[in-house]
Amino acid sequence: MKSKRTLSILLYLVILAAVLSMLSGIFSSSGNTIAYSRVTELFKAEQVKSFLLQGDQLTMELYSPYNGKTTVSTTLGDPEGFLDEMEQLLQQQSESGILTAYDIVAGEGWSAFDLVLPLIIAGLVLLFAWALLMGRMNSGNPLNNFGKARTVLGVPDDRKVTFDDVAGADEEKQELQEVVDFLRNPDKFTQIGARIPHGMLLVGPPGTGKTLLARAVAGEADVQFLSISGSDFVEMYVGVGASRVRDLFDQAKKIAPAIIFIDEIDAVGRKRGSGLGGGHDEKEQTLNQLLVEMDGFSKNEGVIVLAATNRPDILDPALLRPGRFDRQIHVGRPDVRGREEILKVHARGKKLDDTVSLKTIARATSGFTGADLSNLLNEAAIMAAREDRPVLSMDDLNEAMMKITAGPAKRSRVAQRRDLKCTAIHEAGHAVAMYHLPTHDPVRHITIIPRGQSLGSTWSLPQDDSSNMTRNEMYEQIVSLLGGRVAEALFIGDISVGASNDIDRATKLAKDMVARYGMCEKLGTVSYLDGGEVFIGRDYQQTKSYSEAVAATIDEEVKLLIDKAYDHCKQLLEEHSGKLHEVVEYLLANESMSGEQFAACMEGREIAECSSTSLFDGFEETTEE
Ligand code: ADP
Ligand code: MG
Ligand code: ZN
Repeated sequence: MKSKRTLSILLYLVILAAVLSMLSGIFSSSGNTIAYSRVTELFKAEQVKSFLLQGDQLTMELYSPYNGKTTVSTTLGDPEGFLDEMEQLLQQQSESGILTAYDIVAGEGWSAFDLVLPLIIAGLVLLFAWALLMGRMNSGNPLNNFGKARTVLGVPDDRKVTFDDVAGADEEKQELQEVVDFLRNPDKFTQIGARIPHGMLLVGPPGTGKTLLARAVAGEADVQFLSISGSDFVEMYVGVGASRVRDLFDQAKKIAPAIIFIDEIDAVGRKRGSGLGGGHDEKEQTLNQLLVEMDGFSKNEGVIVLAATNRPDILDPALLRPGRFDRQIHVGRPDVRGREEILKVHARGKKLDDTVSLKTIARATSGFTGADLSNLLNEAAIMAAREDRPVLSMDDLNEAMMKITAGPAKRSRVAQRRDLKCTAIHEAGHAVAMYHLPTHDPVRHITIIPRGQSLGSTWSLPQDDSSNMTRNEMYEQIVSLLGGRVAEALFIGDISVGASNDIDRATKLAKDMVARYGMCEKLGTVSYLDGGEVFIGRDYQQTKSYSEAVAATIDEEVKLLIDKAYDHCKQLLEEHSGKLHEVVEYLLANESMSGEQFAACMEGREIAECSSTSLFDGFEETTEE
């Protein structure tokens, strides 16, 4: 070690010497030094184009090279004497234009600055070398940070998240309260010999508040929060993931009590042996290390690991064994009450006028997650702010809702009359089909104003929170999705690409019905999409767990199902073509049609002219409950 150190010091000294000699080259008078006797000769030979006399340093620019240089210099023993001697000559030559310029500056050839600058630079070099040397020894080298966990430590002055910020997740909060109690008062549990779960898995779709809940637990218990994402472990370098895991747990133990939160744990906790690279790939090492660490703190050390995923089915079973993530907390999409609570939380700090009813919005947003609802209020606030209105109205929320579900309105896009008619027929096709399908949610709004990618939109919002879909409901969904295309074919005589998204969705639904939910007789109640996935790099690919023959049957059945839905739809629209054209005419005249106006049209009532066209119509408070 000692010899190594002397060696590196020596190395730096050599570098220093090289740098200093270079500097002295720069700062010494540049050019070729010549003897004094030659100077007068050069002047007399009319070779000097210009010169600078600075103190006793004379630098001359020559017409033709002397010793290969056109700039030469020398030190004069007696600059005054030189000037006296040459005065007449200089005057002559500058008058005749031979000497184009000269300058005589008083002072030393080496100014004080010239001397100090190299010293300063040398000092800096030395300092730098020293810092480098010390850095080596104290592992300040950036290379040494590779294995460090890239965690985000909760900053103390960061606004603390508590259970109050998480709305409508009462059961989840209750389950997590236990963790909070333990972190607050571990002795109470250890004295009685209770084993506290090391890990809890938060399971649920994206945006349902898993991360938020984990932060809230840390906030409630007033402990440190170390968070890391599963994908941070997956690195290009072998062994880095494992050492990050080790480092993360060491860090947590040091600052215990603490919560370690591993977001998207499926990125690292995928079933072992499912990789293509076989045996011991990097991910497995990382996962193994995670298992080791979780077993490691058997004595209650005040560290609890929370993890989040939306794919618990692909996690390695070893992760879910007792002592590891042996508890799962399901964080689902909120119900009506939950949505209202969440809306209230995010409406804090926003001014709402009295047209706004969060209850109504909650009813109309079935299927929305907490993140969607937060986004809804935020979009509305942005719209109001853009128009310099300090208070949000229900219209803002309606516009935000439309934007979220169908993309932003593009009023500036000027559509051709012909396109408008096509769009109106397409949308009316959807709407009329929906109206005549018994299980379909009612039409809420139809428009031929372009939004996002589409030229027009038809909205139907679910009436309640039922999350279970029957075969008939799914089938009718397919029928209504085909409504646009069928109307085009029937009433325009040509079909457009405008239906491509509808067709994608219909096909996916049909495929799910046939191959995932076992809803077709020919294939029986068998699921062929078992979620078996192969890990290729960072992409996942579905593996086929069925024969080619079954694959062919699936394709066949999907086509049969879609064909059936198409015929069904065609029959509906032909039968109600009169109504469909009434809707088209109305849309061409008014651009948009509310759910209420549409219903009036279908029922043969008069269409009220200026009724509101809000998506929230019909969701207002009723007396039920
Ligand atoms: P996940 O981790 O499940 O994907 P997040 O916790 O990141 O979801 O939630 C994203 C955002 O959505 C949160 O920051 C919060 O603003 C909002 N949110 C989600 N669920 C709730 C809830 N129950 N109460 C209040 N806000 C919520
Ligand atoms: Mg999250
Ligand atoms: Zn469509």
